[in-house]
Amino acid sequence: MNWKGGISLNKKKYKHQKYLIYKPKQDTRRIELYKERKRQIFEYYGGIPPICKCCNEILYEFLTLDHINGGGRKERNQFKNSYTKFMLWIIKNNFPKGYQILCFNCNQAKGIYGKCPHTWTFGIKENEYNLIKEA
Ligand SMILES: [Zn+2]
Ligand SMILES: [Zn+2]
Repeated sequence: MNWKGGISLNKKKYKHQKYLIYKPKQDTRRIELYKERKRQIFEYYGGIPPICKCCNEILYEFLTLDHINGGGRKERNQFKNSYTKFMLWIIKNNFPKGYQILCFNCNQAKGIYGKCPHTWTFGIKENEYNLIKEA
């Protein structure tokens, strides 16, 4: 390795060490803010405590913000895939209509099938359900 290369390598190492010193502090603050905003939004759209509107899932970790009429991809592009920017936008715009809280299962199923399968399994009558079970 030549002399020049040695210098740039040290510089890199130095920068990296600096990064390691300052990063965790900023991160905890940012994570706290993120959690605070997320809870604020989830409680607005999903109640206190927030639950899945479709299947009543209550585990917070399973919950996600759902766009009632779709449009998630367009929105993700608009906010350059930044969930933080998106959350700030929601709060700044006084919690606009068109969102609800769903769990990941219901959210994904809705995306794939158009409707969450819960809407038809919960919708059928009990005797019909027993017929299906017996079949
Ligand atoms: Zn659900
Ligand atoms: Zn569901």
